Amino acid sequence: MGAQATLDSAAAAPRKTEPKTAKPGGAAIPYATITDTFSLVEATTKRLEILSLVTDLFRRVISRGGGPTNLLYTVYLCINRLCPDYEGLELGIGEGLLVKAIAQSTGRELVRIKKDLEAKGDLGLVALASRQNQPTMFRMQALTVPTVFHGLKEIASASGSKSQDKKLAVIKRLLAACAGDESKYLIRSLEGKLRIGLAEKTVLVAVAHAVMLERGAAEDELEAGTNVVKAVFSELPSYDIVIPALLEHGVDGLRARCRLTPGIPLKPMLAKPTRGVGEVLDRFDGQEFTCEYKYDGERAQVHGYTRDGRLEVRVFSRNSEEMSGKYPDLVAQMPRAIRPGVDSFVVDAEAVAWEPGADDASPGRLLPFQELSRRKRKDVQADNIAVRVKLFAFDLLYLNGEPLLHLALSERRRMLREHFVPVANEFDYATHCDCSTTADMQVFLDASVSSGCEGLMVKMLVGPDATYEPSRRSINWLKLKKDYLAGTGDSLDLAVIGGYYGKGKRTNVYGAFLLATYDEDLETYQTVCKIGTGFSEADLEAHYALLHPLEVSKKGYYDAGEAKPDIYFEPRVVWEVKAADLSLSPVYTAARGAVDARGISLRFPRFVRVRDDKAPEETTSPQQIASMYRAQATAGTRESLEDDEYW
Ligand code: AMP
Repeated sequence: MGAQATLDSAAAAPRKTEPKTAKPGGAAIPYATITDTFSLVEATTKRLEILSLVTDLFRRVISRGGGPTNLLYTVYLCINRLCPDYEGLELGIGEGLLVKAIAQSTGRELVRIKKDLEAKGDLGLVALASRQNQPTMFRMQALTVPTVFHGLKEIASASGSKSQDKKLAVIKRLLAACAGDESKYLIRSLEGKLRIGLAEKTVLVAVAHAVMLERGAAEDELEAGTNVVKAVFSELPSYDIVIPALLEHGVDGLRARCRLTPGIPLKPMLAKPTRGVGEVLDRFDGQEFTCEYKYDGERAQVHGYTRDGRLEVRVFSRNSEEMSGKYPDLVAQMPRAIRPGVDSFVVDAEAVAWEPGADDASPGRLLPFQELSRRKRKDVQADNIAVRVKLFAFDLLYLNGEPLLHLALSERRRMLREHFVPVANEFDYATHCDCSTTADMQVFLDASVSSGCEGLMVKMLVGPDATYEPSRRSINWLKLKKDYLAGTGDSLDLAVIGGYYGKGKRTNVYGAFLLATYDEDLETYQTVCKIGTGFSEADLEAHYALLHPLEVSKKGYYDAGEAKPDIYFEPRVVWEVKAADLSLSPVYTAARGAVDARGISLRFPRFVRVRDDKAPEETTSPQQIASMYRAQATAGTRESLEDDEYW
């Protein structure tokens, strides 16, 4: 089946994409081919060397043939995922089960494995050492890439009453067949973290390079081709579709075949923070721009497509997770906001908690985000909903078979208004004002805050800089939050990786926490601060209930610096915090080396809220923390206003 066919079927009827197994005659790649590369990658920190090692791996895989599956599985094993994000199948098996599997498959006692884990702090190394102690009775068949991939998938999808037993059985089966370093990487994959310092963006570049080089491209063609692959992938973040298309048609044929497709969430465009109306006007000086209310809700990318004559609506989060189960009311409401003649669309919007007015004459009001965050994440029953949700649409990215990303915002907005209509208490356009003076903007900002919004989003409206830039935190979108104006700075989203036991009446809970930022290049968490204020007693109890099951025995792969919490947690929980300012610190490690040999820390951090819409890898990054520090140090300059690109 060609890539076009794959794409077409996805466009017409997005569904879980199950890659086919290797074609008959195609040689399965030994798992050791991948783990050998992992060892080499782990041994270096040089970006270019890592890129060339992974490119070389992919070239060998491609040249062995066997159809796109070999490359696809290899890529998934390198990024430690099993499918696109929106299909929601995840690794991250608990330490307890893995310890049990290692014990049972090597015949060692559980307590000894736990002791080793205390000493080594890395279950992968423990698995490796345990196997080395254990003479192999008979030679198992060597592991292959498809066997490992399917095994991991079987483990991640096991559900039901006997799921732990099922998982254990598959893990033991795989472990028994491991040779050399394989068990180390297998266990780390199961834990959900490879920790070899291989970032996904490097993997994507390596895929592009490998395919181009195998098709005879010259070195000087690589950069342009890679940019095409990055751009395509940010529109259609599915290796299941992009890799087969790339292998079959090369970079030149990719754009025409892989475009934004309803049902497959694209990575949203994000905004840069600014600290005042003046800074915004500096940036947009002489350009046409627009201000919109910045609603305090949850990003909702709403997709609609027609299948069997019926419109299907699906909602995705800013991390591309499916949220249709959390918002069955949104799914039901959306068709009422669509004008006749629309058969497919992607709307970018904010879902906001909403209190309807007492009668049709009163308009209702916005509620704070916390009201919505109490909802379960899945299987919400429509008749069981306490707080209503209203959608505020600010962009239209796709309409009736055509992506609109390349159009200017003015045009996308015109089409949004032409094809969608406000519905009381259900759907509206984001309130906007195309103002251009400081005074107008200040008035609009005040109006947004008094109606319950966080501030303004200021966006380029016309011209080539007004296109939609997926996955970018762009200087063409600026955010102006009310808090910046009060001088308290932007908030940060940080992962909770450690706890300190409470004192006095807080002895049954953690009294303070260690927060960290995720460094995706180094694949490690760097500490930012200890936080003990901003919590009510009820907060502390809720945090304890959530975090206690996440306790781990060792700091694992955290770059904790001199921070010494009583206990470490698996990185699952993300909090939004505010601080008085940022300072250099000999204790914490965030962004170490970026502005100083010391790390950057928060002074007087205060808990704001739980960010359960964010994964721990999506904390405010060390680079962002460094740029916040620089912006503070050089207050008033525009240093913070540089484009970031994720891919
Ligand atoms: P932040 O989470 O502070 O980086 O702010 C960006 C978020 O603001 C986006 O991801 C949206 O969820 C939200 N938002 C609210 N209103 C708008 C708007 N009018 N345009 C774009 N994003 C908005």
